[in-house]
Amino acid sequence: MADKKNYYDVLGVKKDATEEEIKTAYRKLAKQYHPDLHPDDPSCAEKFREINEANEVLSDKQKRAAYDYEQEHPGMGGMGGGFGGFSGAGFTGFSDIFDSIFSGFGGGSMRRDTTGEDIGLQVTLSFMDAAKGCRRDISYYRNEPCPACRGTGAKDGTAYKTCQKCGGKGQVRLVQETMFGRTVRVGACPDCGGRGKIVTEKCPDCKGRGYQRKETKLSIDIPAGVDNTSTLTKRGYGQASAEGGAAGDLIISFRIEPHKIFKRNGMDLYVDLPVPFLTAVLGGTVKAPDLNDVFDLTVPEGTQSGTEFVLRGKGIHGRTATGSLHIKVIAETPVKLSKDQKAALAAAAQNIDLKSYDKAKKYSDNISALYGKDPYKK
Ligand SMILES: [Zn+2]
Ligand SMILES: [Zn+2]
Repeated sequence: MADKKNYYDVLGVKKDATEEEIKTAYRKLAKQYHPDLHPDDPSCAEKFREINEANEVLSDKQKRAAYDYEQEHPGMGGMGGGFGGFSGAGFTGFSDIFDSIFSGFGGGSMRRDTTGEDIGLQVTLSFMDAAKGCRRDISYYRNEPCPACRGTGAKDGTAYKTCQKCGGKGQVRLVQETMFGRTVRVGACPDCGGRGKIVTEKCPDCKGRGYQRKETKLSIDIPAGVDNTSTLTKRGYGQASAEGGAAGDLIISFRIEPHKIFKRNGMDLYVDLPVPFLTAVLGGTVKAPDLNDVFDLTVPEGTQSGTEFVLRGKGIHGRTATGSLHIKVIAETPVKLSKDQKAALAAAAQNIDLKSYDKAKKYSDNISALYGKDPYKK
């Protein structure tokens, strides 16, 4: 894929723009660069194509989320089928643009195909289930093709005749007046609603609708590493088509619950590990967690608070990438000390001067040079 322009830049909106802001920016630019207004300028046509492509993605919540995710995680790809890479998918023809700009202006919007609607379903997962992958049984209601009429809506699937107006094609030529002048385009036949046939006797089972509302149960395998921006698409598990076409898709999105110990970014895991400050001073081992158990983490002598240990391969084992486990040492100062313990520490502190400290030594030198005073001297 060639280097693509950032869709937000193309529409001149901020990354957190609202749906309304995107719509307004798109309409303004689409009118400004419409090829009909600049017939001799091919750069306008190209710009127009870019604007439409950007709008196609940013005006669709799911595509926008997948796009944002791809921008933030280059090379990882979206989890869902169909959302990875938007190469040139935006612009499919003139009627598209008229439909999206002028939906609501007489003529009505035409369905371009007879595929049923997609169904969106959100599944809540625990942090661990999302990180390790899991199998989930889900159930939801959808319109399934009526078996009695095989989705045609006609009794026994045969009680229909070919539409006279369109000759069974389902489409007719329509003339439309727009602010750019008169346009002729092909649209759904008004007599048969684009079906190409007219039912003479309705199917009694579905009352002519061609579908029946039913509970659908599915067991889905959720791969390790899904997050709040992932989608899984089950082709053909959306609504049945009312016009005898293919069923839509079921698009599953996820809500991942937070975890008390782990945080994540992509396939990487992050843990803040409190370490008693004397262990950080003298060195030792501490039990650190990964996705399956705890393991011995060696904390070397003189470990500073805030030091991060990166353990490659110990993150999430995703479909295309394996992450790292980032363990950040937080050296903790003890607060509940007895008199004797304090005395012992004070005695030890007396024998350790500034030469043992790196940053404190530099700070002391700098302050002394500036004001002639030792910041650590009582
Ligand atoms: Zn017709
Ligand atoms: Zn039926």
